[in-house]
Amino acid sequence: MMCPANNMIRERCGRGSGLAASTRRCYTKGMESHRLGDLEIVLDKRGPREYAKVSYPLRFGCFSEIISPDVACQFGLNGDLKFLQGRGPEWPHPAEWLKRSAGGDWVYYSAGEYREIFDLFGEYYVPRLSYPSNCIFRSDPFKNAAVKSALRAWDSLCGQLKQSLPGIPSGQLKEFVRSVCDRDSAGLVRRAGDFHDRIGGRVSVLPPDARHVDYDVMPVVVADGCLYHCAFCTVKSARTFEPRNLDDIRTQIEGLRAFYERELCNYNSIFLAHHDALAAGGERIEFAAGYGYETLEMKASYMKDGAHLFLFGSADSLLSAREDVFRTIRELPFQTYINVGLESADPETLSAIGKPITARKVEEAFERMLVINRDYPNIEISANFVFGEQLPAGHLPSLVSLTRGKLDRYWDKGALYLSPLLNGVPLEIHEKREIVRDFQEVKRKARLPAFLYLIQRL
Ligand code: SF4
Repeated sequence: MMCPANNMIRERCGRGSGLAASTRRCYTKGMESHRLGDLEIVLDKRGPREYAKVSYPLRFGCFSEIISPDVACQFGLNGDLKFLQGRGPEWPHPAEWLKRSAGGDWVYYSAGEYREIFDLFGEYYVPRLSYPSNCIFRSDPFKNAAVKSALRAWDSLCGQLKQSLPGIPSGQLKEFVRSVCDRDSAGLVRRAGDFHDRIGGRVSVLPPDARHVDYDVMPVVVADGCLYHCAFCTVKSARTFEPRNLDDIRTQIEGLRAFYERELCNYNSIFLAHHDALAAGGERIEFAAGYGYETLEMKASYMKDGAHLFLFGSADSLLSAREDVFRTIRELPFQTYINVGLESADPETLSAIGKPITARKVEEAFERMLVINRDYPNIEISANFVFGEQLPAGHLPSLVSLTRGKLDRYWDKGALYLSPLLNGVPLEIHEKREIVRDFQEVKRKARLPAFLYLIQRL
């Protein structure tokens, strides 16, 4: 598909990007297997080309793999460690693993009880994070001895590879082993720092819809800060809302291209950060998405389920965006997901959580979301609501009334994400049960898909 923003991109940049001609189709090489002492190494393995929701370890895209007696590791095409799984009998579960984000965080994929987990999250796993978030589960996999041991085994593996490196003949294997050695634990910390430098800091929260691509998004910051600075929010920045200029956006995208390099072919998704890209306006969205599509070579991605664009909006940005903004987004070569933080339709709850908008505005924004979802096939707006036992009694009834009363039948487009408010305090077991019970009630009554939202950063 022709990217409709190309003309504007060329105008803005004063040149044709000329990048498509240099597309590196890294995945056209064949798979190679090697043995190095007790290590099995497979280069350029090819996994599925579409994201799928499955209940077993499945590695999407192209990757290389090292299996030692203690640990199985998969690497991106630049040699960055991406997945790790212990191999000993103590490892918690054969369907569980660790994933490392481009931002340098470990995420433990916990399988738990499949049916309950899928019901709650719409996925077959729960991402357990190595930093404070709003997870409703108490246990911490990062304290598990087998998980700690697998992470130590990764360091030992790097040591072993460094010793072997001089004896490996020149060729693809040596090149791969060298890149893994360069990206040992300390090297990966440097890589994460480099990644954040290229976009001007950490992404404090990813949209819940990014779960559809396993959070494999390339972030491009189009605006800092947010409109409301709500009291309850743990991910906000202190900055007032300020869109980035187009030069800055262009520099970020080119920096990301250099950062991802060969790994670009494993990505087909862009996140327009931070908290309210919709408020940054149609022109910025069009430029960032269009220039990103071309420069980050999305058309040449190994992943074949189409390009995805994720962004956050707010009640005000959704209501003030004119129809031509959505027409512009519709013409982009993406399936676009816009996640809007509405939080509550109950005035007392909005006041209690310090969200400075009215319940009437929340209702209007919800109605607008339904209209956009109906009128634009390739745009999906989802909504966030807070969730927790400590909220005023009117919150749940208002949520059910809004999400049931405004629709005449069940729609499967436009998910509701219910975000547990934990304030960093782990839940007691009975509190978890109450949250799950309340969630099930909303899920049963709402006429849209409903899921719990666990905040992830990048
Ligand atoms: S919930 Fe959204 S609008 Fe409110 S402070 Fe957090 S980021 Fe800003």
